[in-house]
Amino acid sequence: NVENTNACSFLSNMNHMLDTPIAYLKGVGPQRAEVLGKELNIFTYQQLLHFFPFRYIDRSKFYRTNELVPDMPNIQLKGTIRGVQELGEGRKKRLKATLYDGHGTLELVWFKGVTWVKSGLHEGQEYLVFGKPTAFNGKYNIAHPEIELFDQQSVYAKGALQPVYHSTEKLSRKGLNSKGIEKLVKTLLDEVLPIIPEVLSVALLSQNKLIDRKTAYSQIHFPANITSLKKAQVRLKYEELLFLQMLLVKQKLLVKQHVKGLKFDKLGENFMNFYDNHLPFELTGAQKRVVREVRRDMNTGAQMNRLVQGDVGSGKTLVAFLAMLVAIDNDYQACLMAPTEILATQHMASLKPYADAIGVSMELLTGSTKAKTRRPIHAALEDGSLQILIGTHALLEDKVQFKQLGLAIVDEQHRFGVAQRAKFWKKNNTPPHMLVMTATPIPRTLAMTVYGDLDVSVIDEMPPGRKSIKTTHRYDSHRLAVFGFIKDEIKKGRQIYIVYPLIQESEALDYKDLMDGYESMTRRFPLPQYAVSIVHGKMKPEDKDYEMNQFASGKTNIMVATTVIEVGVNVPNASVMVIESAERFGLSQLHQLRGRVGRGADQSYCILMSGNKLSKEARERLSTMVATNDGFLISEADLKLRGPGDIMGTQQSGIIDLKIADLVKDGAILAKAREDAIQLLDEDPNLANPSHASMHHHLNKMFKKRANWSRIA
Ligand code: ADP
Ligand code: MG
Repeated sequence: NVENTNACSFLSNMNHMLDTPIAYLKGVGPQRAEVLGKELNIFTYQQLLHFFPFRYIDRSKFYRTNELVPDMPNIQLKGTIRGVQELGEGRKKRLKATLYDGHGTLELVWFKGVTWVKSGLHEGQEYLVFGKPTAFNGKYNIAHPEIELFDQQSVYAKGALQPVYHSTEKLSRKGLNSKGIEKLVKTLLDEVLPIIPEVLSVALLSQNKLIDRKTAYSQIHFPANITSLKKAQVRLKYEELLFLQMLLVKQKLLVKQHVKGLKFDKLGENFMNFYDNHLPFELTGAQKRVVREVRRDMNTGAQMNRLVQGDVGSGKTLVAFLAMLVAIDNDYQACLMAPTEILATQHMASLKPYADAIGVSMELLTGSTKAKTRRPIHAALEDGSLQILIGTHALLEDKVQFKQLGLAIVDEQHRFGVAQRAKFWKKNNTPPHMLVMTATPIPRTLAMTVYGDLDVSVIDEMPPGRKSIKTTHRYDSHRLAVFGFIKDEIKKGRQIYIVYPLIQESEALDYKDLMDGYESMTRRFPLPQYAVSIVHGKMKPEDKDYEMNQFASGKTNIMVATTVIEVGVNVPNASVMVIESAERFGLSQLHQLRGRVGRGADQSYCILMSGNKLSKEARERLSTMVATNDGFLISEADLKLRGPGDIMGTQQSGIIDLKIADLVKDGAILAKAREDAIQLLDEDPNLANPSHASMHHHLNKMFKKRANWSRIA
């Protein structure tokens, strides 16, 4: 296709142009280029083009000198200059001038650059003045205003928004304050705008009523008015999100097309036996649905890549077990990886009885498994006699070799990175099916992006009979009342968690808090009536296990711990979760911790302890926790409070380096972009249609940039 090839070579020339080192731009040179690189990561034309203003100053309105009131923002006035005066001597030298606009006067003052400013002020001429007025002795003045000769032709005079760019002191010293950067961007646009290619198809542009790319770049830097700024933003956000989604969707398609999968078409003996005779409770509707989705995936002949999202306590483990039985019924092995030793041990403890009941073999492998125990496990894995392996990241080691791995499950996926997931792919000739589970629900818009390459199942129903957890917020000053409450609960036979923060930077201090807390609990709750366990990260695994088991088996009734118990631990008789210094935890962490209680039939409670002084954000986090138990609502709130970069699990994904779109605020654009990406790649998977040539080219470029991110590589 000749047309197509021509278009592509034109496009790649254009791209070369945008890759030009920034030093070559008129007005930059090697010295400024160096600071631009160091301070703003701007090394190329392209990067400057994408260095968007972080705000705009409305210069469309001219204020009158008789309209001034206290506490105004930066404003703009127009008038003639009178009475330019130099006052004072030496370091006290200053320059004063009066602006007269036909309604009154305003004083302008400069303390620096007096001689230079003075040389540019001509009495009787009309000027544009911009700055923040302050009242002094009942009269308004502006110190160091921006001032320029009024020019009917200039953009600002026509009523435009002036861009404000981030700058730094180092940049300012090289003349690159916001104004300086603005000049460079103008020069850049003059040079590149005429040849900036459109990368969206005509159809997408018209369907979504988007403005063209040239206009968008010019208007985002120098908007004529608010409306055209908005249009420019929408256009560039859509473009950014569309290509990101195309990348993700394409990746998913590539896996489906090119990665051969295992076909599990038997729903055999073990699954049926367990389901009919040993199921500990009726599955919830949501669990049944997800089991069906997983079974269907494993039976298509393509590799399954599915995420199961379900709030804490929604019963993901049982779904995982049933999926493993499907693999085993098809003569393959299965494994389940958990992020911590405690959690892996607990999975083993809860699943082993099920496996025993139907005669399926199951072993546990963690970092602390002794060589003596390890050796037979390795041997049994290799000869295929071991059917299910549960463990920690120890499972990923090269020496862990399966005879035939058919299904790998990653629990609490947000604790792992994409790269770790990828390691399982190599553990079998045909990559095993992958099931990843997370108890950190993330909002739909974010899931589309973070997990855009996975199919998603949601367990949106809790097992029956659960009472919703009552959450309260108590100040440290109410501690006595809280202790009284704990005693009452213990009297009823319940167990209590008390969690302390442990945060890297202040580890020593936190550790002391924890030990002090433990000691005060042992004093306040003495033997033999009470028994207190403690678990923290510095303990030896066997000590940790011992203490955990003491608590799990009801031998101790209070568990003092750090967040090591945050994930997955299951003690249904525990009914109270006290979180110390709750203001120091993030929302999703608080929600995870709270999920440790409310697992039995009893009414459970979560008590958030905090100091009296709280930041606005901390207060909002705590009140969100008190207001709702819904993990999805909480993660929405978390996203709003912290932004997507901080949400658990998104850091590792490395795909949220968006230039302009905002996953929190631009949910609607994101949803549309995803829909369009899916439809586009459905109709034209290779973007071979000539009308898609520019999109094809642009997408390829992105693919190359992200090559190291791709799991398939
Ligand atoms: P999570 O989704 O947080 O991993 P678990 O799988 O640990 O949740 O399940 C939480 C608790 O709920 C466990 O005690 C489990 O045995 C129980 N459970 C799971 N499914 C059901 C069900 N369908 N009915 C009743 N209890 C269930
Ligand atoms: Mg779990």
